[in-house]
Amino acid sequence: MATYLILMGAPGAGKGTQAKLLQEKLGIPQVSTGDLFRENLKNDTELGKLARSYMDKGELVPDEVTVAMVKDRLSREDCQSGAIFDGFPRTVAQADALDALLSELDGKIKVVPFINVNPDSVVQRLLKRAELEGRADDNEETIRTRMSVFQEQTSPLLNHYEARGLLVEINGEQEIEAVQTDLLSAIEDK
Ligand code: AMP
Repeated sequence: MATYLILMGAPGAGKGTQAKLLQEKLGIPQVSTGDLFRENLKNDTELGKLARSYMDKGELVPDEVTVAMVKDRLSREDCQSGAIFDGFPRTVAQADALDALLSELDGKIKVVPFINVNPDSVVQRLLKRAELEGRADDNEETIRTRMSVFQEQTSPLLNHYEARGLLVEINGEQEIEAVQTDLLSAIEDK
């Protein structure tokens, strides 16, 4: 059976960095909805044009659009054994849609690590990333919106997965390697 991991955490918690390290060790690909949207933006696709207005403001792209993109991604060959979700699901509706998708694919969610960081250190990290990578949505106003979107729309998923016995909290304030070690042991323990 294919196994899926969901990395949860506020913007800037280090989900992308950790997912990239994990995919090499576990042999299943990172599926980052943020990266998929940015790819579409770069290639100026219809999906990219639609997503841009939401992303620039730090708001969520509508669920139907996001879910359709994930469904398409999961149907590709490299996801046959599973995937590491980074930045998805972000709403309860997306989590429900993911359950439906995974039952079609005969897959199950193995564990949901929550990389927990202090909101103040996250804002500092994101401002630094803005300088280094020049991401359009890493300015102070958008960062604030993304943090409140996380609080309001995504954090209810923590209870949702906790109730299902899937959530494992990881201390995201540690060095990258220590976070990775904790993630790997959380995955092995499940
Ligand atoms: P990220 O790189 O994960 O921080 O995502 C960057 C932006 O892409 C977000 O601020 C949203 O506008 C959009 N996005 C990424 N993932 C999702 C998702 N699961 N649902 C809706 N919008 C998303």
